[in-house]
Amino acid sequence: MQITAETPFKALIVPPPLFQATPDQTTRFYGVAKNPLQSTLKQSITCVGVGLHSGHTVRMTLHPAPVHHGVVFERIDCPGSKPIPARYDNVVCTRLSTVIAHADAPEIRVATIEHLMAALHANGIDNVRIEIDGPETPVLDGSAAEFDFLIQCAGTLQQDASRGIVEVLRPVHVEDANGAFAELRPARTGFALAMSIDFDVEAIGRQRHAMPLTVQRFRQEVSFCRTFVERKEIDALQKMGLARGGSLHNAIVVEGATVLNPAGLRHPKEFVRHKLMDAVGDLYLAGHTFKAGFMGHKSGHGLNNRLLRALFSSGENWRLVGDDALSHNLAHATA
Ligand SMILES: [Zn+2]
Repeated sequence: MQITAETPFKALIVPPPLFQATPDQTTRFYGVAKNPLQSTLKQSITCVGVGLHSGHTVRMTLHPAPVHHGVVFERIDCPGSKPIPARYDNVVCTRLSTVIAHADAPEIRVATIEHLMAALHANGIDNVRIEIDGPETPVLDGSAAEFDFLIQCAGTLQQDASRGIVEVLRPVHVEDANGAFAELRPARTGFALAMSIDFDVEAIGRQRHAMPLTVQRFRQEVSFCRTFVERKEIDALQKMGLARGGSLHNAIVVEGATVLNPAGLRHPKEFVRHKLMDAVGDLYLAGHTFKAGFMGHKSGHGLNNRLLRALFSSGENWRLVGDDALSHNLAHATA
């Protein structure tokens, strides 16, 4: 199945029926919730679009993958190159987007993975093999909505192994000199995120958004929120070779108090909601979802990545929970 920028897909989304649990299903439901299973896609699915920064047209195919595979990118235009797992320790650049590569081959990279990672995280996709024929994922409409749609089209398949979940055991905090910070804290259950921003630009200003990470809340509140840029930054970015694929079709452009996109915003808090969505994607480079609370203030790709590095720098900060996690770790340790 292939979806291009011309596919009028939004009209095709049918909301799923509300889940009405019978007592028997309730038992099964709680059984699954207590010990959730890994998931992959039911079938492969392809999309084609331009990269936001490179401006190149890229073709990307998401394939089902076996248990414990993780989210892994393959640059099929670089034959013989090593697949690149989407992990925090493979992040080589965080200026404007999250970029992964192997340290010994930094030129074979995949940039702007965060919106796809957010959609995979929200949909609970643990295992997927992503073939891509260029250095950057397609930007599509600048949000995660179309990646979310691709995943819905492909369908989700539960697999025969339980999910590993990173449980945060004590607060971990990183900050920069501008007052921005990012923090993970222990939580009783699930993964909730809160993000705030404070921009001098009048059109953006101060905004805050918080939500638990469920696929429904993700879809309703943040998936459709687009990336944004100030008009005065565009020339400088393009001189640096960035934002070459940028347009009013895939980014919000602001100037002073004005949003330059003719159709305006999709939500009054679209800016902070986009930043929260970015964090959902960046934090999935932990390799697992979380049992934790995340709090970010003006946090972007750089701080989000530093937060993961700080978290995993000490075994006292976290542990992996889930039945198969222990045996999988032991298998790795003894391999
Ligand atoms: Zn983004």
